[in-house]
Amino acid sequence: MGERKRKRSFFQAVRLNNRAWGIWQKFCPGLFVSITGSSMVTAIIPYVSLWMTARIINELAGNKSPQTLAVLVLEQLLVTGGLTLVGGILKHFKNYQADSASCQYNRIFMDKMFSFDYAHMDSQVTYDLYSQVIQNDKWSGLGLHKTIVLFEELMTAVFRMIGGISLTVSMFLARVPGNREELVWLNHPLCMGILLGLMLIISAVSSVSASRGQRYWIRYAAETRFGNRLADFYVFLNKDMKRAVDLRIYNQQETVGNVYMEREYPFLLSSKIVQYAKGPMGAWMAFSQSISAVLTAAVYFFVCVKAWAGAYGPGSVTQYIGASSSLFTGISDLMNVLGRMMENGNFLEEVYEFLDISNTMYQGSLTTEKRTDRQYEIEFRDVSFRYPGTEQYVLRHINMKFLVGSKLAVVGMNGSGKTTFIKLLCRLYDPVEGEILLNGIDIRKYRYDDYRNLFSVVFQDFQLFSLPLGENLAGSRQVSLSQAEECLKKAGFHNWKQVMKEGLQTCLYRDLEEPGVEISGGEAQKIAIARALYKDAPFMILDEPTAALDPVAEAEVFQRFHEIAGDRTAVYISHRLSSCKFCHKIAVFHEGTVVQQGSHEELVADTEGMYYRLWSAQAKYYCQKG
Ligand code: ADP
Repeated sequence: MGERKRKRSFFQAVRLNNRAWGIWQKFCPGLFVSITGSSMVTAIIPYVSLWMTARIINELAGNKSPQTLAVLVLEQLLVTGGLTLVGGILKHFKNYQADSASCQYNRIFMDKMFSFDYAHMDSQVTYDLYSQVIQNDKWSGLGLHKTIVLFEELMTAVFRMIGGISLTVSMFLARVPGNREELVWLNHPLCMGILLGLMLIISAVSSVSASRGQRYWIRYAAETRFGNRLADFYVFLNKDMKRAVDLRIYNQQETVGNVYMEREYPFLLSSKIVQYAKGPMGAWMAFSQSISAVLTAAVYFFVCVKAWAGAYGPGSVTQYIGASSSLFTGISDLMNVLGRMMENGNFLEEVYEFLDISNTMYQGSLTTEKRTDRQYEIEFRDVSFRYPGTEQYVLRHINMKFLVGSKLAVVGMNGSGKTTFIKLLCRLYDPVEGEILLNGIDIRKYRYDDYRNLFSVVFQDFQLFSLPLGENLAGSRQVSLSQAEECLKKAGFHNWKQVMKEGLQTCLYRDLEEPGVEISGGEAQKIAIARALYKDAPFMILDEPTAALDPVAEAEVFQRFHEIAGDRTAVYISHRLSSCKFCHKIAVFHEGTVVQQGSHEELVADTEGMYYRLWSAQAKYYCQKG
């Protein structure tokens, strides 16, 4: 599984980076100012120190005036001390900004996900792309995070170069006195050209070698990312309370514990990436670092010979050697950063591929008038549907009208399309053929959030959140105590005050709060029903709402279903046909179509029909004696 590597020009890479910097700037406005300030001071301190030390040494080697020396030493102390202090403050500020940017990182993706059409959330392609982006980031911060690091390195390299140039210019300008005829050639501009040329060539060779070494990482990015994904899932399984029981009952600790080892976990000593680190990758990296020794030798030669020829004093030797080495480091760092900017391009493109996923659902502009009489009528007109990316229709030619205030039961075998029907009703997906009408108008023409507000749904796999009970019910910090109490009571959670010691403030689950309450499946289901009631929407949909309830609680929900649903139009999906008897109408789904519609009495009378088959299959067990 090799990494696909696209060729792109330098300017394309810069554009990709610019976009990332724009994103960070939006989420964390102080970030780039703080990095620039901190990098500038950090890069400048060594030069200031070098320059001042050179002045002290020159004074020691020259006039040796105690007063001048005292002033120079004091200046050195004050200036470097002051700059170090400012540098420390700026670094602290920058670290704070960078940490805050890291926290914002999740926001960037969360905001995108919250804005997605549901179809994108439900798609494996989206999930894989997101997982890819996250793993890239976890694995050396490639992608968006890398651009912060690159910006800092870029700034440091630029300031280092500026400092290096300022302190080395005088080295080239200082002239060997005419009495050293044999060395006056050092004054020739060609010498400066050769030294600068050498600096550029060696920087380029060093940066190309580093990039060669780096390429091994990039080439195996896919494997290492997958390794991270495996580790993420399997290593953290031991903390996953939901899977703990199955893990123990089926003795899967060992299998699960070893799974990533067996799947050629990329960080094992025998893995390719480790082999490369010991071989060519390590060699390229080492070469990249060692080649600078050639330049150091050339610089020493040039600086020392010129000093020996009398162009400047011994203090300046320290200054020029230090400044030229630093200038060289600045140039190679700059080349290195630019190279890595290009390499990071692939990973940024993946980030943008995710961030640029656009919603395709038509967003209408009509508002659903807020009717106190709840006179909302919905009609499915010849609706057919298949999931995105699949060929098989899971619903075909559905025609159905919901009478206002009526109670409709939807029954059928597993996979017959009941939940999909509800997803279309709530407009989580749009029909592929046909239309769904609200009061005679295609639901696509309504504002989506307005339309969605018409529904309260308790899905089979509903989710509650690790938040206080009240916030779970209201979906807001503002909770009406009386309304919450009434809904919990209607949902059959009579003893909620005994379970929830802090009342509506009691936090559900212990993920975030030590005193949180672990609730049973039945209690969770009652809270989910209460949440649906609290929303007080004109349509109420219950998908297998009693699956986790004990028989007594289940019977209570059935008996009081009319009371629970009130004057709302209610849709009720259930496998237990006995619980559907009290609905006005029952729709029987089979292989994606509605094969029968009618009241219980009408349907059960048709002994050839699907409903009768399902009914008799269940009735048989209830009627058996002993
Ligand atoms: P039911 O609720 O009656 O058990 P569903 O509506 O959940 O049935 O599923 C109907 C069919 O649609 C099944 O064959 C199921 O595999 C398929 N299906 C459900 N969800 C998806 C999805 N997100 N992508 C593709 N196929 C799906």
